[in-house]
Amino acid sequence: MDDTRKAMTVDSLRAELGAWLSGNWDPDLPLLEWRTRLVAAGWAAPSWPTRWHGRGLPAWADEVVAAELRAFGAVGPPVGVATGLAGPTILEHGPDGLRERFLLPILTGKETWCQLFSEPGAGSDLAGLTTRADLDGDEWVINGQKVWNTSAHHADFGLLVARSNWDAAKHRGLTYFVIPMRQPGIVVRPLRQMNGHASFNEVFLDDARLPRDNVVGSIGDGWAVARTTLAHERRFGALRFDGHGSASGRAIEEAGAEIREVFAPYVWYPQRAGRVDLLVDRARALGRDQDPVVRQEIARVLTLQRVSAWTADRARANRAAGKAPGAEGSIGKLALSVVARAAARAHSLIAGASSLLAGADAPLDGVVTEVVLSVPAQSIAGGTDEIQKNILGERVLGLPREPEIDLERPFRELPRNG
Ligand SMILES: Cc1cc2nc3c(=O)[nH]c(=O)nc-3n(C[C@H](O)[C@H](O)[C@H](O)COP(=O)(O)OP(=O)(O)OC[C@H]3O[C@@H](n4cnc5c(N)ncnc54)[C@H](O)[C@@H]3O)c2cc1C
Repeated sequence: MDDTRKAMTVDSLRAELGAWLSGNWDPDLPLLEWRTRLVAAGWAAPSWPTRWHGRGLPAWADEVVAAELRAFGAVGPPVGVATGLAGPTILEHGPDGLRERFLLPILTGKETWCQLFSEPGAGSDLAGLTTRADLDGDEWVINGQKVWNTSAHHADFGLLVARSNWDAAKHRGLTYFVIPMRQPGIVVRPLRQMNGHASFNEVFLDDARLPRDNVVGSIGDGWAVARTTLAHERRFGALRFDGHGSASGRAIEEAGAEIREVFAPYVWYPQRAGRVDLLVDRARALGRDQDPVVRQEIARVLTLQRVSAWTADRARANRAAGKAPGAEGSIGKLALSVVARAAARAHSLIAGASSLLAGADAPLDGVVTEVVLSVPAQSIAGGTDEIQKNILGERVLGLPREPEIDLERPFRELPRNG
């Protein structure tokens, strides 16, 4: 670590960014022009290397900078699959050609992304996927089906894991690609969820094509690259979409439109995390705050949430120390599921049968019903609770691994779904 980085403190970082924002934040700029300015100064991804649009700062700087941008009322980089998954994965595994082509438009929000991992026969058992990739001259040809792909209906690019070698063992025949989504070989069909939203899709790949060099990492190394994406996904938690109060200006209006159009698939994500923040007010508003059972249940949720926040702090401290996201990510994700489910139970207890209503009669304009219907997603997306427990058991507690058969046999010889 050089002297500049050693001397950097939260206060000095805030002061430096504040001074920069005073001279540069202009709410009347077009959004893309503002974000291009933000990226050029390294503030969109401060922990990324300077060569790749960052400032080479420790990981803790990202959160400090994001909070400071919010406090200043300035628009930050976009959220979602592009900056949360695509950027970190391409940054870590390269090659440089893909870093040069994709990292800048990821940070400015000019291009949007989706994740094409899960298949009808491969979710938890992701390494068993059967979408195939065949090299044909200067292009890869892709055939298969993906499912549950958030935002695929308006994505420019997809993070695709496909099988490029059927004679290699299960985990060694996979390659990780960047695929252009807007092409004749790709059909995207939205799926309607029980909470009324249509966040994700099924994606059919029928002789879809991508350039030969659009391989993240190297051919056959797709499993290791996918694990990087999954480790980042465990940190997703509840995405926040901040408005800018009464402030106005072109950049702010365009950022608002971006949330309504591009990030609409995520509007229910705060609800899927349980909306613990509403519990006490809801109990007071309905006169349930003196009920000992309700009080006990709320206390339980708040306690779980506090403990979960400490776990997140530990994960943050590890990241700040330069460690890759690891087992504490699984603990944190599991904790979020436990809190979400407990919060939904408490909301139901407070609201009673009305938590099942939809439409104008539903409590809090439907937010409580949406919590009840959305929390199951928290226990599935990004790896189910059971899979997180397996990871914890095997990698943290050192318990015997689940019996894994056929690790060495060619994949084409294995019995499989579908
Ligand atoms: C909100 C949301 C967004 C999503 N977004 C995306 C996306 O953008 N891109 C994408 O590719 N996917 C996405 N997914 C899909 C998600 O990754 C999968 O649903 C998840 O990995 C589980 O896979 P599955 O649905 O096939 O269930 P299965 O793997 O079939 O699991 C069924 C049940 O069996 C249990 N189980 C399976 N294997 C084991 C085991 N070894 N030990 C113990 N229990 C086990 C599971 O825990 C689960 O309860 C999303 C899902 C949700 C809910």
